[in-house]
Amino acid sequence: MTLQIELNGVNKYYGAFHALKDINLAIEEGTFVALVGPSGCGKSTLLRSLAGLEKISTGEMKIAGQLMNDVPPRKRDVAMVFQSYALYPHMTVEENLTYSLRIRGVKKAEARKAAEEVALTTGLSHLMKRYPRELSGGQRQRVAMSRAIIRHPKAFLFDEPLSNLDAALRVHMRKEIRALHDRLKATSVYVTHDQIEAMTMADHVVVMRDGIIEQQGRPLDLYDRPANKFVAGFIGSPAMNFIQAIVGEDGAHIVLDFGKTQAKLAIGSRLSPGTPLTAGIRPEHIKIVAEGQGAFDVPVGIVESTGSATFIASATTPELTIVETGRGGAKSGDIIGLGIDLAQLHLFDIATGRRIE
Ligand code: ATP
Repeated sequence: MTLQIELNGVNKYYGAFHALKDINLAIEEGTFVALVGPSGCGKSTLLRSLAGLEKISTGEMKIAGQLMNDVPPRKRDVAMVFQSYALYPHMTVEENLTYSLRIRGVKKAEARKAAEEVALTTGLSHLMKRYPRELSGGQRQRVAMSRAIIRHPKAFLFDEPLSNLDAALRVHMRKEIRALHDRLKATSVYVTHDQIEAMTMADHVVVMRDGIIEQQGRPLDLYDRPANKFVAGFIGSPAMNFIQAIVGEDGAHIVLDFGKTQAKLAIGSRLSPGTPLTAGIRPEHIKIVAEGQGAFDVPVGIVESTGSATFIASATTPELTIVETGRGGAKSGDIIGLGIDLAQLHLFDIATGRRIE
């Protein structure tokens, strides 16, 4: 496999503000990569730097083996797809598609043929004579993507392309974008703050925070083995439960701190007695059992059901969220036992947040 995008020790400063901190990234040709993280983490800066819209301060950025640091945007051969679509309002769909080819000197008939071919792939053939204002949000997004596809770029750069769409259309469009990616086999870099979007669409997820890459890898690897508490809390919905704990005297169990009460939990490994740590348990990895039959008991607080799943909150501090499929039987005020699968228990260093193996 050849590397299509390479970033080595990339830093970006806006004046004194350090927006990208020593970013290293190697993306193989044909990979769908999602850059994900909270607002302000630097994902757009990273994408815009790839597009050449921002100049990196130090480090090396390569596309298809060529150093891009000083190459202007239009010579990078990458196509950006924005959430605002950035369509030309006074041009029809067809004109929007052919425009970028025409300004590159492609003949009218040839550009039109290319537009028709792309429109077939993206399902726009019947809309070619319409203006952007006569299209739905999803259709506009398809035009924006078609305009990128028609140029056969070395990489597609998506900047939160689905943010303006309603929830149902987002789910539909993310499948459509992924299917298109599979057909075109192009390298795609996709910025989103939505971890579900990142997890469902990407082959490789890069989790960022405060200008650094916290972890990168295959989506389910991040889910199963988050490198630190931040990634553990960011990936997965509803979010992982965190409880402060301390390693017990035998080193083989931890004592979970619920303020007024404590709970003992065996751990698979042996740790130094007295070590403070943060324990993490995903809501779907806690099983409700009869009182006295689990690792520990908790009183039930609020119970919410969507019909297909039930979310149970314990009346403890911190509160634990438990997810059961179906309607579930727990009621507010019940005392329930919690069964915890030790293989699914995550332990994090209390000071650094790093995973404890
Ligand atoms: P969001 O999801 O809110 O778009 P983001 O992760 O894409 O966030 P960036 O837009 O990359 O974040 O911004 C990263 C940081 O750099 C932010 O703190 C932002 O305020 C800062 N920043 C971005 N552009 C500039 C600029 N032109 N001048 C100064 N600071 C900037």
